[in-house]
Amino acid sequence: MTTPTRPHVSGALPGPRSAELLARQEQRESNARVYPRHFPFAIAEASGSFIRDLDGNVFIDFLAGAGVLSLGHNHPELVAKVIEQLGVLTHGLDMPTMAKDAFTDAQLSMLPEPMRDRMKIQFCGPTGANAVDAALKLCKTATGRGDVISFQGGFHGSSHAAMALTGNVSQKRTISNGMPGVHFFPFSSCSRCPLALNPETCQTNCVALLERALEDPNGGIPLPAAVIMEMVQGEGGVIPARKEFVQRVRALTRNLDIPLVVDEVQTGCGRTGTWFAFEQYDIEPDVIIASKALSGIGQPVAVVIFDKKLDVWAPGAHTGTFRGNQLAFAAGTETVRIVRRDGVLGNVRALGMQVAARLACLGHHPGVLEVRGRGLMWGIELADPGDGRSITEVAEQVQARALRNGLIVELGGRDDCVVRMLPPLNVTEEVLDLALDILLDAIDASTAPVSQAA
Ligand code: PMP
Repeated sequence: MTTPTRPHVSGALPGPRSAELLARQEQRESNARVYPRHFPFAIAEASGSFIRDLDGNVFIDFLAGAGVLSLGHNHPELVAKVIEQLGVLTHGLDMPTMAKDAFTDAQLSMLPEPMRDRMKIQFCGPTGANAVDAALKLCKTATGRGDVISFQGGFHGSSHAAMALTGNVSQKRTISNGMPGVHFFPFSSCSRCPLALNPETCQTNCVALLERALEDPNGGIPLPAAVIMEMVQGEGGVIPARKEFVQRVRALTRNLDIPLVVDEVQTGCGRTGTWFAFEQYDIEPDVIIASKALSGIGQPVAVVIFDKKLDVWAPGAHTGTFRGNQLAFAAGTETVRIVRRDGVLGNVRALGMQVAARLACLGHHPGVLEVRGRGLMWGIELADPGDGRSITEVAEQVQARALRNGLIVELGGRDDCVVRMLPPLNVTEEVLDLALDILLDAIDASTAPVSQAA
């Protein structure tokens, strides 16, 4: 497919050919399926920032495989590397191979310089959730402790243990908590401060609760095996942590000798404008979890990168058949090369400023509670201007209108009221502008009743 330059959608969605596949899918696949409910079409092919459906409709894809396709769909140089690797070796368990060796070099080289010699890498089963599980097990083994601190609003995956760390109990933690000893603390989510503090004067005191709970013998929580956090809560609604919040969590965990695990599954590999988001907080974590965009082309792979002093695993303590995806390694090494060659991180930062400038007009928009983002990870939280109540139906309308006009955006956050964008990191200025035009129109059209009521 040659990469289109603009979207076009004709007729109702789904078109007839898509409708046929969607109907068959509904009959045969589990109710757990999600995306086809919001994006009612069947994918025919894709290229760069665009997807074509079976009926010939073309959409700008600002979901990008849930943040996986950092260099867009089918990046030709990544495709070439994958094809080359197909003829060499595809699956290698956890044996050393040339492809894995190069991938390891590439990944460790992207760490901040002072961390490079301190860290080791572990290959997990190829999902973010599996890496989260591995990181927890590692910290529990290394510390001999059992409890874990997680943050309200956070999301860490859908396996039993990862889901147990997830803050959103109404939509995401769909079973009763499967892991004992998880304690949730407030995140610096300032537009809806969980402690009703005033962000202008609060001195980031949300973190004091955690500090006191862990330092006070009356705090009720044994010294935990780990504190796990996202630097920017993704599924939670694109909420960047305050810098001081993160730094105080780091200081606390360092003082109490608690491993700090940063979940960079969504924020990692350039998404926020640095290779890892924690770099923007001037901290060094003990454990980093990465997955989604590691291969750049959607070949599954996940890693835990951690301080050597934690490496107390017994051989086989965290196995998984699919730890040796050579196609992902080949593509991932090439992704790092392209990111450096093409200055992709600088592009992310520049385009992030373009998004901020274009969305600044929403600052006083009735129906928009807040616009938040870092790099190319953005969220627009919609809320009733009167009482701040969630207006999920309006967010759904924005999403549906945008799709009808050729733009795929995701929803997330509390009550799915945050319209989220995760474009490819090499999206062009022109495509970004087109997408923002569509999005702003969709917000205006969908919030018109809200503005009139206000
Ligand atoms: N952690 C974070 C921060 C995520 O955003 C996600 C996925 N959205 C996961 C973990 C889980 O990753 P996976 O779906 O690959 O298991």
